[in-house]
Amino acid sequence: MPKTKKRMTKQRKKILEVLKSTDTHPTADWIYEQVKKDIPNISLGTVYRNLNVLSEMGEIQVLEYGSNYSRYDGNPDDHYHFCCQGCDAVADIDLNVKEKLNEEVEKQTSFRVFTHRTEFYGLCEECQKNHNDLNTD
Ligand code: ZN
Ligand code: MN
Repeated sequence: MPKTKKRMTKQRKKILEVLKSTDTHPTADWIYEQVKKDIPNISLGTVYRNLNVLSEMGEIQVLEYGSNYSRYDGNPDDHYHFCCQGCDAVADIDLNVKEKLNEEVEKQTSFRVFTHRTEFYGLCEECQKNHNDLNTD
């Protein structure tokens, strides 16, 4: 997708800085709370708008999980994610199979594959403990 050329405003720069400082894939609300510490008069709407612009600029990724709130990723490179169904945590998965999977599909079909989207779902370590507690009580 072609990247939109847009000015890097002060607000945009701050939002990007906040997002790049964490690997928790936060919500817009969380980013808003952090940015507000530096820019107290910023609105949540402005944060949303700028997150969309940053995504169009190719600086960040918007991760959409069905009916849940969108999560934002300061790493714009294509990579996999694990979503905890217990606490909604989103973690990076370092798997070097993207090209391989695309090729595999091309081998089995007549399609030309450019990319694919795959999400991993389950329970994080913390939620597995809670899950076990429930079962053993
Ligand atoms: Zn969890
Ligand atoms: Mn990520």
